[in-house]
Amino acid sequence: MSGSTEELRRDFEQDLAQIENLDAWKRIRDRWLARESGIITGQMKRLRELPKEERPAFGQSMNLLREFVEDRLGTTRAVMEREALEKSRRHIDVTRPGFPYALGTLHPITRLRQEIELIFVSLGFTVFDLPEVEQDYYNFEALNMPKNHPARDAQDTFYFDENLLLRTHCSSVQVHAMQSMKPPIRAVSTGKVYRRDPFDATHSPMFHQVDVLVVDEGITMGDLKGMLEVFLKRVFHPDIRMRLRPGFFPFVEPGAEVDISCIFCFGAGCRICKESGWIEILGAGMVHPKVLRMSGVDDTRYSGFAWGMGIDRVAILKHGVDDIRLFFENDVRFLKQF
Ligand SMILES: [Zn+2]
Repeated sequence: MSGSTEELRRDFEQDLAQIENLDAWKRIRDRWLARESGIITGQMKRLRELPKEERPAFGQSMNLLREFVEDRLGTTRAVMEREALEKSRRHIDVTRPGFPYALGTLHPITRLRQEIELIFVSLGFTVFDLPEVEQDYYNFEALNMPKNHPARDAQDTFYFDENLLLRTHCSSVQVHAMQSMKPPIRAVSTGKVYRRDPFDATHSPMFHQVDVLVVDEGITMGDLKGMLEVFLKRVFHPDIRMRLRPGFFPFVEPGAEVDISCIFCFGAGCRICKESGWIEILGAGMVHPKVLRMSGVDDTRYSGFAWGMGIDRVAILKHGVDDIRLFFENDVRFLKQF
């Protein structure tokens, strides 16, 4: 029996010597090792025809042959792969420019959010990261807008149920900050807000806001004005001017609308500022004593100011974009420009 094993071994060596490429290698492997039709399987099938006493020796010699075939095929394949790699290495042109990777960048609104937060961090503020799904209490009730308050109508709200809603502004930071900190409080929060607005050039049902709260002893309108001036000059331009007009928001008293001198015509009058020289930019005011009291702050000892601003509007003005939708349609051709 060992004679025939030797013969098979020689046959296999001859096959092996003819392998020149991977296809040939696969063909030889299948010829010898295929589970159903391979030569070794064919030999094993003869086992039953043999006299009982010869079977163990035959089986063993076939197993040895199988190991030998597998081992040699493995070595041959490894050699072939190494040669192919060497060959491809010789063809690397190190002077060729590399393949460019398309690196993503932060969205312009995200960058502006971070820029604004950094300004406040540098002023010693605590940044609040607040939920977009908010309780009625934080969004309205504690901000002096009880149920049926007309101001609620101005902010067409997405409700989940009686109590849960998509926040309509970031002003809820006032309540969260006063509940979790003791005065002096310097808090800021930026993020997405939602209103049932149409989706057109100047409206979006989702947009971004920044809201700020400062509470301490002896805080006055002068402090509000001073901080706004520092902030707006850093965001827009050191030369811009600012003015406050009376305005109404239920959670502040007194309230103010804040304008900046037009950043396009520097006050001379243009299409963007409708020839007025001013651009309305945010709403502000002294925190309503009722709002302080509802969040457990002693309004006889402390006072504070708060203001909120649309971030998208700032981005539109800074970059001269005329359609808010461009920021949210995520066309890479648009976003790439920032
Ligand atoms: Zn102008």
